[in-house]
Amino acid sequence: MDKPVLSLVSPLHAVPDIGKKRAEKLELAGYRTVLDLLYCFPFRYEDRRAAPSIRQLVPGTPAGFLARVRDIRKKNLRSSRVPVIEADLEDGSGGIRAVWFGQEYLLKTLPPGSIGFFFGKPEISAYDGLLNLRSPVVEKMDEEKKGQKSFHVNRIVPIYHESHGLTSSFFRKTIGLVLTSLWGNTFEPLPPSVLSRLEITGWFPAIVGMHFPQTLPVNGDPDSLLLPDYPPRKRFVFEELFFLEFLMGYKKREIRLSSRERIRQIPDDEGVTFAGSLPYALTAAQKRACREIAEDMSRTSPMNRLLLGDVGSGKTVVAAWGVYLSFRAGLQSALMAPTEVLAQQHHVSLKALLEPHGIRTALLTQSVRKSEKRALMEAVHRGEVDFVVGTHALIQDALVFSSLGYIVVDEQHKFGVEQRKNLIQKGGNPDVLVMTATPIPRSLALSYFGDLDLSVLDERPPGRQPVRTEIVSKNRLESFWDECVDPVLGRGEQVFVVYSLIEESQEENIKDATTMHGILSRKWPSVCTGLLTGKMPWEEKASVMEDFRSGKIRLLVSTTVVEVGVDIPGATVMVVENAERFGLAQLHQLRGRIGRGSLPGMCYLIPGVDASREATGRLEILVRTEDGFVVAEEDLRLRGPGEFIGTRQSGLPMFQVANLVRDVDILLLAREQASMFLEPSPNDLIEHSWEWTTLMNFVQNRYPGVQEWLMIR
Ligand code: ADP
Ligand code: MG
Repeated sequence: MDKPVLSLVSPLHAVPDIGKKRAEKLELAGYRTVLDLLYCFPFRYEDRRAAPSIRQLVPGTPAGFLARVRDIRKKNLRSSRVPVIEADLEDGSGGIRAVWFGQEYLLKTLPPGSIGFFFGKPEISAYDGLLNLRSPVVEKMDEEKKGQKSFHVNRIVPIYHESHGLTSSFFRKTIGLVLTSLWGNTFEPLPPSVLSRLEITGWFPAIVGMHFPQTLPVNGDPDSLLLPDYPPRKRFVFEELFFLEFLMGYKKREIRLSSRERIRQIPDDEGVTFAGSLPYALTAAQKRACREIAEDMSRTSPMNRLLLGDVGSGKTVVAAWGVYLSFRAGLQSALMAPTEVLAQQHHVSLKALLEPHGIRTALLTQSVRKSEKRALMEAVHRGEVDFVVGTHALIQDALVFSSLGYIVVDEQHKFGVEQRKNLIQKGGNPDVLVMTATPIPRSLALSYFGDLDLSVLDERPPGRQPVRTEIVSKNRLESFWDECVDPVLGRGEQVFVVYSLIEESQEENIKDATTMHGILSRKWPSVCTGLLTGKMPWEEKASVMEDFRSGKIRLLVSTTVVEVGVDIPGATVMVVENAERFGLAQLHQLRGRIGRGSLPGMCYLIPGVDASREATGRLEILVRTEDGFVVAEEDLRLRGPGEFIGTRQSGLPMFQVANLVRDVDILLLAREQASMFLEPSPNDLIEHSWEWTTLMNFVQNRYPGVQEWLMIR
């Protein structure tokens, strides 16, 4: 057999037409190997199949054609303030004149002799009767070698994002040449067993189809090639989702196959004892989650579970149940929260739930005094504390547990990979429960969080007050504070006012917390107001929070530091200014801070004066629904998955062609196929199969961060 000149793993400088300098630029753009380059997909296509020669151009009909620049010059016309650039174009069949206004750089980029693809509307010039092309779009071709022209015209042509000075036509030509030399390649990263079950285009034909489509679907619109109805694209959508589901399933399986240091026994009646000690009856959803946790904890492998629930769905007590079970098994627990305020609050509510059972609970944050801290850490080390609640202060090396068996991470996305790893390493392959106050859309829970088992609290405890949401229109703005806030303060209720900025900034018409705190406290001189921002030292933050909780402060002006978990029963009104600057899920989170007492809540969203209609319209969903999952779904659609994922899954790729909103069906298919691939025999070393090796190597090669991700829970 002939040895192929190029292989998929060849470095790009080995590709004859690239050369060292461009290979360096490509590397800067993130492409190291031939394979990387082949996965640089075009972002759209142009139908240039009918590209005419210059002689065939028809005045008045827009068209694109390939031509050489014979001459290009600058003209200063008296009638025009901008210089006119004029070029004579020719293609062997005839000539045409192109004219641009003010685009002087063309003198440099299109010198005589250069070749370009021009698109515009030819017209007969009223001045001299010659064929003229006004301001055509131009795509410059790199020095053409014979035969390469075919990549750029007379076909459906891929258009690539330009990057690091590399043009779309450079990518097109280079990828075209690489594909030519790899022609007939039979590589296939997907397992044959999976392929044979599905109708999926093979790897190489699909790669070719992504770069150089042969035909357009029925309606003839090149944009239809951007949808997964186009088989080559469908293959890569599936591939991406399959890789992700494979990684998730693999990690999950690794955890399943590992065992915790200490096995526990869970007596049947524990649930009754615990539930009996609570001031309320658990909801059906809470009971289900508690059962799932108890089942996890009675296995030999550790728990790795995500507890999903909207604000106020009662996650705390479910987390507490795990602490209780661990305590009964002689194990310590830890809960890590992202902020001081939240840790303090968790400490108060969890202590109330757990102390009646004799569980010794402590708080460890940076605000704990040094001497106290030392005593506390010693107690934890000696096993005299059963449950530590804290911030990232829990991660410090000096804190050593005697038998840490259960870890709760609240607001997981606020912590870095290292932080989680460090805490988990303090236990002996411990049980982990991660909680999030932002509901995660189902498609995300099944993909990016697919390594975790899922418990969902889809039911609110009874007695929670409704929160109405209203968008304050511009014409009501003037009277807003007097009409909507003044009476509330008059009744002695408490008000949150939230801003996106701490201090005045360069940005015009964006209000900030500090300035507005000044204005609002002058407006209500007899009302005690407070200011809370992320910039303040923790002592000050804690004392402001305490004064707000106790009811001394009645109007709290803040940034999003109040976002997570804060529980102020007396707060009934929330005002968010420049609401368009926040994500929907974040706004939902914010409004979850009110209506936590005996009175219903009211949330006012005030769009900034410069907010677009679109940005304001997006807020409507918050008016329509109080369901956090619906809001999260919409947020995912508008802003993509980034915000939900945070750092938890760092090292994993973001999608290139798949879309978690559009491609849910393909996601479910990929998930099913990945689990069939991983499942057949949990005790067999599927790792040694050829299929497995091919897949794993490929995934690790494509996504260099994956190896590390796999190591961390
Ligand atoms: P989350 O953390 O999910 O936002 P919390 O755990 O803070 O919610 O619970 C919100 C409030 O509901 C708390 O005051 C809690 O005591 C109360 N609660 C939780 N479960 C129930 C229940 N089953 N019945 C009545 N109240 C409950
Ligand atoms: Mg909570």
